[in-house]
Amino acid sequence: MQLLIHRGTKEIGGICVELMTGKSRIIVDLGIPLVSARKDQPFDSKVIEGKTVKQLLDLGVLPAVNGLYRGDAPCVDAVLISHSHLDHYGLLRYVHPDISIFISEGAREMIGVSDIFTPHRTGALNARIVGCGKKFKVAEFEITAFLVDHSAFDALAFLIEANGTRVFYSGDFRGHGRKSALFKKMVADPPRDIDCLLMEGSMIGRGEQIYKDEVAVERGIREVLESKSNIAFLFASSQNIDRLVSAYKACRKTGTTFVIDLYTAFILHRLGAKTKSLPQFNWPNVRVKFFKYHADKIAEAGHEKLLYLFNQQKIEMEEINRTKENVLMILRDNSLFPKVIAHIHPVGGATIIYSMWEGYLTDKFKGYCREKGISIKQIHTSGHAIPKDLTAFAKALNPRSLVPIHTFHSERYGELFDNVKLLEDEEPWEVPV
Ligand SMILES: [Zn+2]
Repeated sequence: MQLLIHRGTKEIGGICVELMTGKSRIIVDLGIPLVSARKDQPFDSKVIEGKTVKQLLDLGVLPAVNGLYRGDAPCVDAVLISHSHLDHYGLLRYVHPDISIFISEGAREMIGVSDIFTPHRTGALNARIVGCGKKFKVAEFEITAFLVDHSAFDALAFLIEANGTRVFYSGDFRGHGRKSALFKKMVADPPRDIDCLLMEGSMIGRGEQIYKDEVAVERGIREVLESKSNIAFLFASSQNIDRLVSAYKACRKTGTTFVIDLYTAFILHRLGAKTKSLPQFNWPNVRVKFFKYHADKIAEAGHEKLLYLFNQQKIEMEEINRTKENVLMILRDNSLFPKVIAHIHPVGGATIIYSMWEGYLTDKFKGYCREKGISIKQIHTSGHAIPKDLTAFAKALNPRSLVPIHTFHSERYGELFDNVKLLEDEEPWEVPV
C-alpha cells in the first residue's frame, strides 16, 4: 500500500491523506487549513469564497488529487471523514458527487447543522453511514471504524487494510473526555499487527493543561456557579457536546438555569433522537433564548415546527435579568454579546466562563470586559490527547512505523515514540510490511 499525505505532516488542520493500491485509491479527511501556506498566520477562509476548483488548486488550498473534484472524471473510490471539524471535512463541497463519503451518523448530522447556521456550506453529501466495529469494503480496501473520544461528536479512527498491509489513522482523539473509556479500551485491547500508525500530535509542544479532564471542567464550572452573585456566561462551541453536558450537570447540581440559544437547542434535539443521554430544551433547568438570526435560519431550513416546540421553554431578557444570579447563559464573542449585556443591570460582577481554546480570546475582548466589570475565568480542557496518552496509545498499537500528522512538532515525535517515520507533504511512501 502506498501512502501520500497531501497536507498535515507539519501542521494542524487542512488534513488530507491518500492511500493507494495498484487498483484503488481512497482519501482520508479533506479539511480546510488552519494556517497559511507559510504557516506563519491563520488561514483566511474568505479566500475560498467564489473560487473555482482550478483556482483553489492553483492556490494550493485544494490538495492536488486527480479524479477527486467536481468537473474531473472521478477516479477516487471513496473519501473517509473522521469527524465534523472543518479542518477535517471543510473542502468536501468540491468532491465529485459520484464519489461516496464514508462518515459517522453524528458527523453527518453536525455538518448538516453547520450548513444551516454558519456561512460554511457543504451541501448535499453522497454519504454512506459508517457503523463502528464493522468491517466494510471499498474497492481493494477493507476498513474498520472505531469510535474515539474527541471534542467533535461521533468522531472516528480508521483501520485500513489492503493486500496484507494494515494502516491505522488515529484522527483527532484524547483520553480525558467524557468518552475516555473508549481510549482505555483501545489501549487495553488494541488492533494488532499495525504496519503504519498515522497519529495526531496537537498537544505536543503545548504547555500543561490547568483542567486535566472534562470532569475537572465540570467541577470548575460548578465552583463558579456556586460562588457567583451575578449572571454567568458560558463561552463554548455548541458543537462541543461534552462541554454542554458538563455545563448542564453543573447547573443541575447548583440549581442554576442553563439558558441555551436556538442553535444549541437545535443541535441537542437533532442528536438527542439517537443519543438519549443528551440534555434537551425541555429538561429541568433548561430554558431557550430566541435570537432572530437563529430563528430565521431554522425557518429557512424548513424546521418552523421546532420553533413552536422550543417556544414552550422560551425565556425573555427581562426574566434573565430578574433571575440573573441563577443563570448560566451560553454565548460567544460575537455581535450578540453586547446586545445581551445591555439588558443586564448591573452587568458589573458578571462572569464569563471561557470554555474554548485560549487562542480565540483576544486582547480586544479582554479589554472590553474589563471596562464593563465582567470577569473572565478560563475553564477548558483540550479535545486532543496529552503527550502521556499519546505515548500510551503508540505503545499499545506498537506499529512498525509511526508517521506524525496533525502536529506542529513532528520533529519531537522521535523523542517520544519508537519507529517514527517523518514524511513531507506530497511525499509518496510505500508502507513497509
Ligand atoms: Zn478535531
